[in-house]
Amino acid sequence: MPHPIMTHRRFTVNIITLGCSKNTVDSENLAGHLRAAGHTVHFDRLRNDTDIVILNTCGFIGDAKQESINTLLGQLQAAVRFNQRHHADGRRRVLIATGCLVERYRDQLQPEMPEVSAWFGVHQWDELLAYISHLASTSDQPSPFAAARALSTPRHYAYLKISEGCDRHCSYCAIPLIRGRHVSRPIEELVDEARRLVSEGVKELIVIAQDTTYYGLDLYGRRRLGDLLNLLATQSGAQWIRLHYTYPASFPLDAIEAMRRHPNICNYIDIPLQHISTSILHSMQRGIDRQGTLDLLQHFRQLLPDVAIRTTLIVGYPGETEADFQELKQFVAQARFDRMGCFAYSAEEGTPAEALGDPIDEDEKQRRVDELMALQQSISLQKNEARVGKEYRVLVDRREGDYYVARTEYDSPDIDDEVLIPADRRIPIGSFQQVVITQAMEHDLMARLV
Ligand code: SF4
Repeated sequence: MPHPIMTHRRFTVNIITLGCSKNTVDSENLAGHLRAAGHTVHFDRLRNDTDIVILNTCGFIGDAKQESINTLLGQLQAAVRFNQRHHADGRRRVLIATGCLVERYRDQLQPEMPEVSAWFGVHQWDELLAYISHLASTSDQPSPFAAARALSTPRHYAYLKISEGCDRHCSYCAIPLIRGRHVSRPIEELVDEARRLVSEGVKELIVIAQDTTYYGLDLYGRRRLGDLLNLLATQSGAQWIRLHYTYPASFPLDAIEAMRRHPNICNYIDIPLQHISTSILHSMQRGIDRQGTLDLLQHFRQLLPDVAIRTTLIVGYPGETEADFQELKQFVAQARFDRMGCFAYSAEEGTPAEALGDPIDEDEKQRRVDELMALQQSISLQKNEARVGKEYRVLVDRREGDYYVARTEYDSPDIDDEVLIPADRRIPIGSFQQVVITQAMEHDLMARLV
């Protein structure tokens, strides 16, 4: 039900995005349409002066859900302050909730939060745009992916979302319940979008999906990630192409071939492995066992000796014994990942693993997380120390105080290591620079320009 006291047709809109980079792309597509309809769009969690706030939530696991609910409650309070401030001029805040948390829990949340103006699931972008058009009492209703995305990232890098949904059945994961079946975007459309992003100043394309290795199977009857990478490398003009969210089972090895062939595809693979114990992997329904995982990693390192491998692991999964955990710890010590995240298992309703309960207590899970992350910290320091004195090409992301903050091709934005360059002379943001590493820390490097 629209708010009756809206007086002007063009709104200021603030989009707050929680969760993963796939959510970021959804918000950017939405922003593109709102800007095309004449509205002013911001991506700023701190501002509280816009007519409309769209909160794009995450509903993946416990902590993420809690953050989404807290942010929504915070925005309800912010709306009260806004409305009080604008009592005289009659402006009232419109607060729209969307994203995965809404997709999963709208029926429970809506009665609890009647002050929220409208709720839209992850497949309701049309409806959300129509709602705002109705508020502005205009009839323009553009289709969701027609208008150019409005980037919320620095303009020199952008995420390229190659598909929606997931056809895997990992036992602990609620994503297929939220995002639905895997739907690949046509390869021509992706190359076009990549070219357009590059023409607008993007130098680094970050290829994302729930599962990038599944790309094409639904649309073309075969995996086409390798083809897509070849086309992006040869036709988009991007200087860096980075691959995220790969899945170990049935990994399309031609994607590795493409990485070997094209110097503008970063020597970087993000592959969430979740565990190494065969019994746990089977219970997680990951479709791969210990030996299959080891063989795949060895294959990566044989074909791409310089590759940086990022992974994420889950500890405290139901049935994980101390022996399973010690096996995982030994695996981390031997595999020596370049980047690693570790999460405590979060029981999610509606997932296949829900029936297993959540027998391992939170303190024990946290002990396992801490032990693995401490081990990884020492590995990361050793690897960074080996980079001291070496030269690297880096992409400069921003200035922070007395330093410019940059990344090598082995580091993805926001989640990996950074290179700090003293700001003793001006360096253009978004430029590539040649540096030599002067000092190593656990998760960052100091460098100077060459
Ligand atoms: S691949 Fe597995 S973990 Fe990833 S989104 Fe799909 S079901 Fe979830």
